[in-house]
Amino acid sequence: MKETILIVEDEKDIVKMLGYNLEKEGFKTLSVYEGEDALDTAVSKHPDLIILDLMLPGMDGLEVCKTLKADSKTSSIPIIMLTAKSQDSDKIVGLELGADDYMTKPFSPRELIARIKAVLRRVKEKDKLPEVLKIGELMIDFSKIAVAVKDKPVELTSKEFELLKTLVKVKGRVLSRDYLLDNIWGFDNAMEIRTRTVDVHIRTLRKKLKSESKRILTVKNYGYRFNYED
Ligand code: CA
Repeated sequence: MKETILIVEDEKDIVKMLGYNLEKEGFKTLSVYEGEDALDTAVSKHPDLIILDLMLPGMDGLEVCKTLKADSKTSSIPIIMLTAKSQDSDKIVGLELGADDYMTKPFSPRELIARIKAVLRRVKEKDKLPEVLKIGELMIDFSKIAVAVKDKPVELTSKEFELLKTLVKVKGRVLSRDYLLDNIWGFDNAMEIRTRTVDVHIRTLRKKLKSESKRILTVKNYGYRFNYED
């Protein structure tokens, strides 16, 4: 699966240059020119990483960074900030606000790509799942692709298993229906009928999980999350 990078920058030449280089490197890219649009796109598309320029019309990059890191729907998306040399103090503020790394303009695309890969590797390492997860009466064996509730095996379809794994993997974060559709079924433009696909699978998954179905929580008008707490 291709990782998606959201580029937030109002300078169209930089967006074009970045888009070209990132796609050549095997990434999927999205781009927006304004801070407000960055927030919307981060929530609806849940990119794997955001490249965020500090100088934006309207809401500036620092405000965008702060808002993304304060929202549980987007707080775990890594951010690499783009700054100008004159913005050195903003760079520090950005890192304090939770940005993962920064690049000073002008930069070489090669260096930025190396940084992106390093940040993504770090995130993956952190999100790594144990081979077997036991929580309450639920047991998920990720290597054997097996699930049991109260020691009784539960037969899941491959999509149901992927759905469960995707929700579990993000450690309690909320995932939108669009994100789940895009990542499990590969639909890019979710229409209402397709969005229902997720709901239908969630329903059958819950039914099969019986007493542990309480772990899959609905976030109204948005999506789902896995509840680690008892
Ligand atoms: Ca800019």
